[in-house]
Amino acid sequence: MVVKIETPRGVRTVYWRVDPARPDPGIIARAATLIRGGGLVAFPTETVYGLGADALDPQAVRRIFAAKGRPVDNPLIVHVADRSELAGLVRDMPPAAARLVSAFWPGPLTLVLPRSPAVPPVVTAGLDKVAVRMPSHPVALALIRAAQVPVAAPSANYSGRPSPTTAAHVLADLDGKIEAVLDGGPAPVGVESTVLDLTATPPVILRPGGVTAEQLAAVLGQVIHYPEKTPARPQAPGMKYRHYAPKTPLWLVEGPPEAVSGRTRALAAEARAAGRRVVILARTDGPERYPDDRVVACGRNGDPASVAAGLYAALRECDLLGADLILAEGLSLDGLGCAVMNRLRKAAANIITAGEDS
Ligand code: AMP
Ligand code: MG
Repeated sequence: MVVKIETPRGVRTVYWRVDPARPDPGIIARAATLIRGGGLVAFPTETVYGLGADALDPQAVRRIFAAKGRPVDNPLIVHVADRSELAGLVRDMPPAAARLVSAFWPGPLTLVLPRSPAVPPVVTAGLDKVAVRMPSHPVALALIRAAQVPVAAPSANYSGRPSPTTAAHVLADLDGKIEAVLDGGPAPVGVESTVLDLTATPPVILRPGGVTAEQLAAVLGQVIHYPEKTPARPQAPGMKYRHYAPKTPLWLVEGPPEAVSGRTRALAAEARAAGRRVVILARTDGPERYPDDRVVACGRNGDPASVAAGLYAALRECDLLGADLILAEGLSLDGLGCAVMNRLRKAAANIITAGEDS
């Protein structure tokens, strides 16, 4: 049985706008004081907005699960502001960890390593491993530094919803449940960090993200496989839940681009004929390819990073349009396309492969 911690609503959420490059130290100090006092503060990172609490305070960490409605068997990532803090959170530092840290930190790579007893079990959902990352966003770094504690932070969305890439997304899900949100503008990468388990040999990617398999392979000198489909048996606790999903049912159409366009057009026509309101999640040339349908355009063809940057905002936008069905175009698994497809597959109620039977 999945246990969820429930909490009453009723916290007044303070909103602070900050310059993403040079956040006001006075505001950062106040936000850090909230963290040190056991409060919850949402803040921008380069990937998505995080919901932070003092990682060494089990009571504060429990409030993260409550505010998000997050199952307590889904562990959190611990965020640090300096590479040297990693040693205090883990029991063992394999040589690969040091190489990856110097290549990718600060940045969108989370390392899973043996947990030090200093990390409360509630952070890791009772696992003997802990996930740690050093974000590169100046606001995240300033907040963690000022708090002077490692900061446990999952994405700042209600559990199961698309991750937030703006402060407005955070407030839509968590207003009245958290102490504060720091608004530093849109999160630039747009999808979460890559989670790499270094306790396995060879290392395993538990979640594709901002650092690609190709980039990891270049540093580690070995091929690292990405999970391409959700495995039947979850390897990471977070893998078993439906994630990132808009409220409107989403069908993902995968395959070669021409086949995807053709199949999506046909599906949209069918749905329209049945009286259903459809919105198509496509690239910026979508309105030309789907002249008869409503299109939410997200990212350019051949530029998966631009799709990643707009993905979660586009999913939330689709919900606001009041459609009965979202048809989402798949993209190739190159570069950040892998992370985008991983999220779309998890969000999808139905996955259709175009070009196989037509
Ligand atoms: P989020 O809560 O959206 O930031 O996602 C955190 C991700 O990291 C989830 O997929 C978790 O399952 C994964 N994760 C965090 N800690 C661990 C850990 N100790 N072992 C394996 N996966 C972890
Ligand atoms: Mg999340």
